[in-house]
Amino acid sequence: MRTVRISGRVDLHVHSRVSDGTGSPADLVREAHAAGLAMFALTDHDTTAGWAEARREAERTGLGLIPGIELSTRLGWRSVHVLGYLVDPLDPGLVAETERIRAARRSRARRIVDRIGEDYPLSWDDVLAQTTAGSTVGRPHIADALVALGLEADRSAAFAGILHPRTGYVEPHYAPTPVDGVRLIVGAGGVPVVAHPGAAGRDRVLPEPVVAELVDAGLFGFELHHRENTPDGARRVAELIERFGLEATGSSDYHGTGKPNRLGEHVTDPAVIERLLARGTGTTPVLPRAAAS
Ligand code: AMP
Ligand code: ZN
Ligand code: FE
Ligand code: FE
Repeated sequence: MRTVRISGRVDLHVHSRVSDGTGSPADLVREAHAAGLAMFALTDHDTTAGWAEARREAERTGLGLIPGIELSTRLGWRSVHVLGYLVDPLDPGLVAETERIRAARRSRARRIVDRIGEDYPLSWDDVLAQTTAGSTVGRPHIADALVALGLEADRSAAFAGILHPRTGYVEPHYAPTPVDGVRLIVGAGGVPVVAHPGAAGRDRVLPEPVVAELVDAGLFGFELHHRENTPDGARRVAELIERFGLEATGSSDYHGTGKPNRLGEHVTDPAVIERLLARGTGTTPVLPRAAAS
């Protein structure tokens, strides 16, 4: 088992333009230095394609990096994001499932764009122009296309406007259940944490029997400190953490200029990071240059 001592600030949830952030993986390493972080986790939606670039830049500059992923899962109508740290990026089960999710996201985005295109001058090419090759396509890229066309002021306005579910243009995409997501991550040697679990308020935090199932499947923790958790949602999450003996993490969910979240606005206790690093076996982290093994 790997034992390391971590000191300094660690942000466990960061997106690059390999999914729907706006910076490159190497940009994020530089921004993390500037923000005074010791380490961060790169957690793009349903892809590990940004890892190699982030790893090179982290090793070159002495910043710590935890390779991760934010897996899209769904429980009925409810979207549940599961962060997976230190997964094996070549694990066949994880590779097959993330390819399936990314393909479903793409065809879903095309259908959304077709519907919007009936009412606004938006084409699929406009959306593709906002993505990088092979990236995980989502509503943020459609938002960027709407902004480029002058139809919305910025991403947040697009999410509150044309891309809001109430307008009828959007639809969900295929995703595995949360318990299958946790099993996939654990099967790939990774460490699963439910992202922003209190974002929809106390009444929509995962029901206790579901949490029990996730814990049985190897859940490590809940992202307790996240700007989208509501105060009563976070209180409920804290109760579940206590009841099931789970870990509490904190992170920014930074998306570059695409969202107001600032890098390092929430961080995770170094002792939790040490236990997370001890648990993950699918890939190796880059330790901050100051940390001793
Ligand atoms: P999708 O997964 O395609 O339904 O899109 C939802 C994703 O958009 C979430 O993962 C959010 O993190 C992301 N997102 C990026 N920017 C924004 C924003 N300004 N407002 C809301 N969601 C955003
Ligand atoms: Zn996102
Ligand atoms: Fe998320
Ligand atoms: Fe995220």
